[in-house]
Amino acid sequence: MKRIYLDHNATTPVHPEVFEAMVPYLKDEWGNPSSIHWAAREPKKAIDSAREKVAALLGCEANEIVFTSCGSESNNFAIKGVADALRGKGNHIITTSVEHPSVLNTCKFMEREGWEVTFLPVDPYGMIDLDQLRDSITDKTILVSIMFANNETGTIFPVEEIGKITREKGVLFHCDAVQAVGKVPIDVKRLNIDLLSLSGHKLYAPKGVGALYVRRGVRITPLIHGGHQERNRRAGTENVAGIVALGKACEIAMRDMDEEVAHITRLRDKLEKGIMERIEHVKLNGHPTKRLPTTLNVSFMYIEGESILLNLDMKGVAASSGSACTSGSLEPSHVLMAMGVPPEIAHGSVRFSLGRDNTDEDIDYVLEILPPIVERLRSMSPLYAKVKG
Ligand SMILES: *Cc1c(COP(=O)(O)O)cnc(C)c1O
Repeated sequence: MKRIYLDHNATTPVHPEVFEAMVPYLKDEWGNPSSIHWAAREPKKAIDSAREKVAALLGCEANEIVFTSCGSESNNFAIKGVADALRGKGNHIITTSVEHPSVLNTCKFMEREGWEVTFLPVDPYGMIDLDQLRDSITDKTILVSIMFANNETGTIFPVEEIGKITREKGVLFHCDAVQAVGKVPIDVKRLNIDLLSLSGHKLYAPKGVGALYVRRGVRITPLIHGGHQERNRRAGTENVAGIVALGKACEIAMRDMDEEVAHITRLRDKLEKGIMERIEHVKLNGHPTKRLPTTLNVSFMYIEGESILLNLDMKGVAASSGSACTSGSLEPSHVLMAMGVPPEIAHGSVRFSLGRDNTDEDIDYVLEILPPIVERLRSMSPLYAKVKG
């Protein structure tokens, strides 16, 4: 059976060059990088080199990069760490209602711990209102945490404007850029970002490695206490192979981003256009243009997204109903709900997210099998029968 992977926002396959780069650190170079003897030398050098590569992709200094175990840890570290370090200064955090659960649930935890949190609403495209952000900042605000691009809809936030506002108000700006790194050029200095999260497995490196950029001078309390690794900011013996992989993935992203984005955008637009031409009653979720090149989130009205996914899977096509983190629950997506999408339309949503290995044949195949699947499901839908009369 065919196997077509259109769920790259959930995770990506490991790039062959990334795999090759990490193998030596799983085999011969197994030393602890903190040791003082020969076995430490090569692993330590490899971590330094990886740190340079991550920093180069983000436009920062190597010593502003802290390696973590994943994007979720980076987000927890940024929010809890800054809040703890600045607890004498204020008790207010601002975020949005469409963040990834690792930001949203961390902020809800902070609320239970006595912090005040503002969850900014979004418009039907999933965008925040910049005036509302500006008006929400008080002299008690210590942190604004807003994602670069949404994992479910691909909507890209006005990060440059957000950075201007937070800098002008003297408030720290954390940006969850897990979905944007490698797909959108990011220069943390130009964008006035103070902290930025990224994750290896969304970037063709393996699971279990991430990073947090922390601008020099930003005070942050460690999440994991222990040894002196990562300049006292993150204890624990380093995941050397994972860190090497993340460095390589960032190097490849710098080298190949333009070419890959052009390829992926062309295929995504072909899929979008093909679906709209072939199937009636389809609604695009997210911003029509300010959107990640990888992402197409559409609602097929009158039917369930989950049923479409099961049928696609039977034909070898992997897609998603929104986020891997919420699948399995019957709740409609919190992102689509926040955008004001009616629940019955949110239930019909399917997210296709493309990657570097996808081909024209993949898209042609989906465009061939999807219309009959939708037609058959609609023929069994009482809702659709009513519309058809
Ligand atoms: C996947 C994802 C995360 C979490 O990253 P993990 O490495 O899986 O913990 C955080 N934010 C966004 C936007 C994501 O898409």
